[in-house]
Amino acid sequence: MRDITAPESFRWRRFVDVFEHTVGLAGYDLVIPPLLEDIGVFTRLGEATDVVTKEMYDFVDKGERHVALRPEQTASICRSFVEHRPTTPFKAWYAGPNFRYEKPQRGRYRQFDQVGIEVLGSLDPYVDIEVIQLGWTFFVALGLRNVELAINSLGTPDDRARYVAALHDYFESRNADLSPESQQTLLRNPLRVLDSKRSQDAPVIAEAPLINSYWCSEAAEHFEVVCEGLNAVGVPYTLDLKLVRGLDYYRGTTFEYRGGTLDSAQNALGGGGRYDGLVADLGGPDTPGVGFAIGLDRTLLACDDENVFAAPSENADVFVVDIGDGSDALTVCTELRAGGIRAERSWDQRSMKAQMKAANRSGARFAVLIGESEREAGTALIRDLRSDEEQLSVARADLTGTLISRLSSLQGASS
Ligand code: AMP
Repeated sequence: MRDITAPESFRWRRFVDVFEHTVGLAGYDLVIPPLLEDIGVFTRLGEATDVVTKEMYDFVDKGERHVALRPEQTASICRSFVEHRPTTPFKAWYAGPNFRYEKPQRGRYRQFDQVGIEVLGSLDPYVDIEVIQLGWTFFVALGLRNVELAINSLGTPDDRARYVAALHDYFESRNADLSPESQQTLLRNPLRVLDSKRSQDAPVIAEAPLINSYWCSEAAEHFEVVCEGLNAVGVPYTLDLKLVRGLDYYRGTTFEYRGGTLDSAQNALGGGGRYDGLVADLGGPDTPGVGFAIGLDRTLLACDDENVFAAPSENADVFVVDIGDGSDALTVCTELRAGGIRAERSWDQRSMKAQMKAANRSGARFAVLIGESEREAGTALIRDLRSDEEQLSVARADLTGTLISRLSSLQGASS
């Protein structure tokens, strides 16, 4: 688990701001689920998923409850829906950390953040389109260009079951050619064998049956509307008939956003799909759902690779240099901050030279200087730290107003 320090931490905040803006324009509401849930919320995700069986941080609390740190948030959103029963369609977004006991490496951490959306209560393929498009729009808003969207459909639960049976038979017949790991996976979930990135498995997977032969007409029509909708709004995608998502509850449309600059084992920036059974499994009414989760840590690695969405520089606007006991810096900073100016100062009654050095390091455009004579006269000096112009003496009462107008005219000039 990592500390996220400045300026990266500012970038994290801004990432969520861009996401909030993107999904806010489509009317999604923020839900903040707890970090800790009853373990039953997550075991519903399926006993055949590593996230649940191997990677959860779970423990018995002081009240003898078996709880887990959330490994993802879709289950929590559905649990929240069952508890509060909002009107449908329910459109939610979330942002925050998840925990998985994985082997840490670049793009894979034990605490990682996700942003995501969920729509509960509609089977309409136009929901699938909106959800996929919003994820895409978000990547565009970050400035990423090297993202590939792959889509597939797992069909109805019945289609999926017939496909899984066919896959099982096929992989059984080629069992000797599979890696030992995939032989194990086959025992638990034949679909997941398709996810294997091991070279030994590649030729076997290449000849595996494809899901589209198992789509019933209803599933095929739903998927066709989704594809046509994406075409209509210019969201580029590739069809990947071997795309299966990790969690067991997915059915119908599934999709993944892949980062072109990342290693193939960690190239999924995000993904999602339909999960029409999860709410009912959690004790709610039969309610279809569709959503995605996008990994923040990994998406920022892709941004680094593409040189976009750089960490913002968080410079001070003004640095207050107080040559006296520091009490003028207190009142001046208070006034400036109340006026919306980012104002910093030194402590420990440091020398004028040391304070000017700190002012330059802060990145502030202006220094405000208050020495003995300014203090007596009730004035302050404004010095532009990036030009040679004469410093300006202003009455203390006019200081905030003067700086606000100087800063806003500079901002106007630069935009
Ligand atoms: P998932 O919930 O497994 O479908 O993952 C959705 C997205 O979350 C992935 O595409 C990654 O971007 C991100 N993600 C999942 N697990 C991790 C992890 N251990 N570390 C960093 N990011 C992760």
